[in-house]
Amino acid sequence: MNTRKRTLIASAVTIAVCILALLAAQREPRATASPDGGETLRKSSDHHMTYSKSGYDIARLSPERLAQLSEKLSPQERAILLDSGTERAGCGTLLDNKQEGLYACRLCGLPLFSSQSKFKSGTGWPSFFQPFDPDHIHNNRDVSHGMARVETQCVRCRSHLGHVFDDGPKPTGLRYCMNSAALSFFAKGSVVPLESRPIPTETAYFAGGCFWGLEDRLQQVPGVVNAVSGFMGGKNDKTSYKEVCSGTSGHAETVRVTFDPKQVPYRKLLEWFFKFHDPTQLNRQGPDVGTQYRSAVFAATDEQLKLVADYMEELQQTDRFRSKKIATQVEKAGIFCEAEEYHQDYHEKHGGSCALPTE
Ligand SMILES: [Zn+2]
Repeated sequence: MNTRKRTLIASAVTIAVCILALLAAQREPRATASPDGGETLRKSSDHHMTYSKSGYDIARLSPERLAQLSEKLSPQERAILLDSGTERAGCGTLLDNKQEGLYACRLCGLPLFSSQSKFKSGTGWPSFFQPFDPDHIHNNRDVSHGMARVETQCVRCRSHLGHVFDDGPKPTGLRYCMNSAALSFFAKGSVVPLESRPIPTETAYFAGGCFWGLEDRLQQVPGVVNAVSGFMGGKNDKTSYKEVCSGTSGHAETVRVTFDPKQVPYRKLLEWFFKFHDPTQLNRQGPDVGTQYRSAVFAATDEQLKLVADYMEELQQTDRFRSKKIATQVEKAGIFCEAEEYHQDYHEKHGGSCALPTE
């Protein structure tokens, strides 16, 4: 092969590698956005938290950690959790357990079911009609033994737990048929191990126009565990979308943010929030007009109150706001009224999601 041919092949390989790298980077927009507008490509070695909506770290465990955890398993537990085995009907230790408490993954400790969803199915295996958090369960199509079934795995360690069938009781109609040996039970009031506890989180409240868009964007901020649409700042502790729309409730469409302060400090959330909307518009946001669309920060603590006051003073001096007064209302948080279910995750359900801004 001559030198020219070799150079051409080398160039083609380089271009292909670059295209593949670009495609791979595009698949993870959440991890690459940063509030200062720069694109910080995450190194594969960085630990990146993945949260369930109930506030647990559900990032996949490394093979090393799995091997370490597996050492404590008995031969029977190993056969079920790691080799997809099934215990004999009527023999499991948790089958007739009627105590209140939590059922966690035997291998990694992630909470999987609550005693509140346990029911007597008559099958011979512990049965539940819903998981502790749907984010904690991984469903897997299973065609072994000549049957088409849905296998239930723990999302964090991918251990085999059992199967889920659609002949369960109301309200879900599901029957999670579990192996006792795949679960650890913690009675209500007992101390649960660290791996079965949620991560420590804090709460923040922001209002900046229609909550559909604000909730969608805040949910995408790395370090945000959950964003929920609702109302705050009005006269009554209870309200409805209809009442808020009439403009008489005094409430603002507000998003409650549960966040991991180690991943995203409150100050960083403020930076994102003021980027997501125009805080100079008084009692409106774009086409949405009325006090229910006002810009507001409801501080959950005195510390947040000080941080937002300091940040707004700083922001007012920047080029963006030098000639325009920031109209954001700041006050201590009151009662948060969750909005009706059809407002939650609106863009996720109906499309129209907006990516995080980059400048
Ligand atoms: Zn697990």
